[in-house]
Amino acid sequence: MTERESGPVREVAEAWDALVAAARRTVADGLVVGTSGNVSVRVGGLVLVTPSGVPYDRLGPDDLVAVDPADGRQVAGELKPTSELPMHLAVYRHTSAAAIVHTHAVHATAVSTLVPELPPVHYMTAALGGTVRVASYATYGSQELADNMLHALRGRTGVLLQNHGTLTYGDTLDQAYDRTAQLEWMCRLWLTAASVPGHTPSLLSEDQLAEAGDRLRGYGQRG
Ligand code: 13P
Ligand code: ZN
Repeated sequence: MTERESGPVREVAEAWDALVAAARRTVADGLVVGTSGNVSVRVGGLVLVTPSGVPYDRLGPDDLVAVDPADGRQVAGELKPTSELPMHLAVYRHTSAAAIVHTHAVHATAVSTLVPELPPVHYMTAALGGTVRVASYATYGSQELADNMLHALRGRTGVLLQNHGTLTYGDTLDQAYDRTAQLEWMCRLWLTAASVPGHTPSLLSEDQLAEAGDRLRGYGQRG
């Protein structure tokens, strides 16, 4: 049996493959341009992260980058980790997140320049834990940005970063990714509705969001 085939090593290798696929999808889905954004997953006591400034289509199995979430120390890989490591570590240290997606999705970033939170125009707001807040601006990659992000994230699974983009997390990489896609879609929805002259979008109440949240817990197929 080769090293790659054995239990924990294989689990990490598979998590890396899934992370690279998700990072490529952020480009294909138009959520980022070039090497913008970053993705991470927690696996076996490690955090795997995309490297900084490397086009995602160039990443292969040997480019794996892993850090210790306790101190941020790089424990595997030659490539430098994402510049947003402070944001990723802040989420892993304060939540049960298994995966994080950060993008510069255009409608979400537009909304982040206009309002302190995304008005609840759709029940999928509840899928992110409630009205999504905008974290105050700070320079990309800074601890200040990580602190602002964590403050705006409380009680939510997603956040907008002022004049920058989005961050969502989930119990799985698919869930984190889907939350980003839903957040971007809701931002596009609000911008579309709010731009009709002479009209103001109706918003959902706390009670309506709570009811949708309860129902969403049973959404989809059994099990
Ligand atoms: P990295 O290439 O270092 O991950 O940076 C991209 C980014 O989105 C910074 O905010
Ligand atoms: Zn960014």
